[in-house]
Amino acid sequence: MTAIQATGLRKSYGEKTVLDGIDLHIPEGTVFALLGANGAGKTTTVQILSTLLPADAGALRVAGHDVAHDPDGVRAAIGVTGQFAAVDNLLTAEENLLLMADLHRLPRREGRRRATGLLHRFELAEAAGKPAGAFSGGMRRKLDLAMTLMGDPRVLFLDEPTTGLDPRSRRTVWDIVRGLVADDGVTVLLTTQYLEEADRLADRIAVLDHGRIVAEGTAGELKGRMPGGHIRLRFGDPGQLACAAALFDGIGSPDTEALTLRIPGDGTVPTLRAVLDALEGASVEAQTLTLHTPDLDDVFLALTGRSGPQAAGVR
Ligand code: ATP
Repeated sequence: MTAIQATGLRKSYGEKTVLDGIDLHIPEGTVFALLGANGAGKTTTVQILSTLLPADAGALRVAGHDVAHDPDGVRAAIGVTGQFAAVDNLLTAEENLLLMADLHRLPRREGRRRATGLLHRFELAEAAGKPAGAFSGGMRRKLDLAMTLMGDPRVLFLDEPTTGLDPRSRRTVWDIVRGLVADDGVTVLLTTQYLEEADRLADRIAVLDHGRIVAEGTAGELKGRMPGGHIRLRFGDPGQLACAAALFDGIGSPDTEALTLRIPGDGTVPTLRAVLDALEGASVEAQTLTLHTPDLDDVFLALTGRSGPQAAGVR
């Protein structure tokens, strides 16, 4: 079954077109990443699909409900976690969760049961009785996500869920998201500026640029569209670089400022050996050699003409 379906989604603010005909097809129980730089239209897409903002045009269905005609049906089936946590600082972690239970009109006992389960799952049990104002950024983000899950959503919108988190907290959030999909069959639409996040988490990725989807596919498919990797040689002086550039004339791309030569190559041992043998045969000495295999950053660069929205912080 399709969890999220959008056809021809458009949105403008006055003269400014923010979404210029977006199509999405997200099967149930999968993670879909909308990858884009600041201002690409990611948050607007999430706000429209989660009924917070009306679209100008487009047919939209979420969890089997039409977004325009049955917004209440959509709201009952979804959870949304935005870039700014909805946590109440004066309440404890547990009280924040119980407040959500009340908002969802859960019976008291069921509310407590879910809250306890989520506090354990998110490793917040020890902090359950502490005011959220004292929490670290990572803890707040986890609590925010836990609050969203009190409503037991089938479709979860995560708007930049790990922006500003340290690498360890980011991994924890990733693990939680993976668990929700694998164990509970939840569908996740996540927006991110982190190429690595999309790579690690998403079944499919759409690259959003200026309100248009410029590419869509699995991480492997997107990387597969790229030409192969390259070998990068750095030299000690311009003379050595010039000699090397002459050796690989027509193949290599020299950079006279960085004193580097870029040679297309797949990084296999025979290719490397051929390059090193050629250098040695001509008595040219390279200072360093680095291998580069295509990653999502290259995909982003190739598609948008700019380098990735943000370098991924975790390796
Ligand atoms: P970010 O990563 O910064 O959140 P984003 O991809 O989520 O970026 P959006 O927040 O969807 O981008 O914004 C897309 C564009 O729409 C931006 O250029 C923004 O300035 C513009 N925009 C958003 N909301 C409004 C508004 N209420 N009025 C006018 N322009 C708006």
